Amino acid sequence: ALTIGIVGLPNVGKSTLFNALTRNTVLAANYPFATIEPNVGVVNLPDERLGQLASVFGSEREVPATVSFVDIAGIVKGASEGEGLGNQFLANIREADAIAQVVRAFEDPDVVHVDGKIDPASDIETINTELILADMQTLENAIPRLEKQVKIKKADPAKLSAYQAALEVLGEGHTVFSRASDLDMEQLRDLTLLSAKPFIFVFNADDGVLGSPERQAELAALVAPAECVFLDAKLESELVELSEEEAREMLEMSGQEESGLDKLARVGFSTLGLQTYLTAGPKESRAWTVRKGATAPQAAGVIHTDFERGFIKAEVVSFDDLLAAGSMADAKAAGKVRMEGKDYVMQDGDVVEFRHGQ
Ligand code: GDP
Repeated sequence: ALTIGIVGLPNVGKSTLFNALTRNTVLAANYPFATIEPNVGVVNLPDERLGQLASVFGSEREVPATVSFVDIAGIVKGASEGEGLGNQFLANIREADAIAQVVRAFEDPDVVHVDGKIDPASDIETINTELILADMQTLENAIPRLEKQVKIKKADPAKLSAYQAALEVLGEGHTVFSRASDLDMEQLRDLTLLSAKPFIFVFNADDGVLGSPERQAELAALVAPAECVFLDAKLESELVELSEEEAREMLEMSGQEESGLDKLARVGFSTLGLQTYLTAGPKESRAWTVRKGATAPQAAGVIHTDFERGFIKAEVVSFDDLLAAGSMADAKAAGKVRMEGKDYVMQDGDVVEFRHGQ
């Protein structure tokens, strides 16, 4: 399964956010290093289409797609040199498919900041610097070996150029991800560089920030082209304790249309390069996860590996066409249901029935 690692300086609200994400009670204490063990939480991806699909098919239940989050131990200055929990941190982050960096943007005199002040730009730089230094070490080890192999024609010179270009970008203080469009990411893939992972920034904000589009635009500009989400981790952890209705009322009162967790799941999902397709029947309406660009047999393989091997064809209708028609029979009568073969590239919101042999 694809997972998003949650990182951030100590005391920025990672545990609080993670509690909300998992509705669990992980230790959230007001001191650095409270978060030690990595934990995994699985969160439902909100999708309004699922409820509508279930009523079209009279499904007994709805099964949403999910996004997995891993809580990764707090990073500190010097992590790339193995200080504090550094080595553990770097190993855990390497395994994640994307990184959500939690940044403190809330004021609270009762909550200590490790550097003694609230400064999102400097916090982001602290963490990025550790990732950059760790990646520079990786490249500095790899380049001399690769140079030898290129000399005896055992490696591709294009790979060496890609490594050197990445080292230069890092040396200028940029993450690989932020310069991905200038670099040959394919050649860099085998190194699993930390700063090459897709990033999302989660600003743990207070009412001052949540109520100020200008302040949010400033913070978003700090991290562009990476996507960011603004939420109040403390509020989120309270929302999950409420009934759905109470939670909605509380959100409306604070002027928000959607909970921060829903936003995070959505942005996380798209940052991972994923999309959903749907299956439906009287038993269940269900959302399945595939990478963008996946073919119909690959999508079938998400349900069962046998379905990929034995793929014959897929009966496909787009969700919008199905909903407009009102039922599968009417969609068929309107000519909106297609038979697709093994080269078909899945589209977000396809409602599918796979035909497969055993
Ligand atoms: P971590 O070290 O990054 O995991 O941070 P924690 O989640 O343990 O939070 C550190 C302290 O900040 C705790 O006392 C939390 O209650 C508090 N905290 C977390 N999020 C918020 C927030 O959004 N607003 C305020 N005022 N306090 C928060």
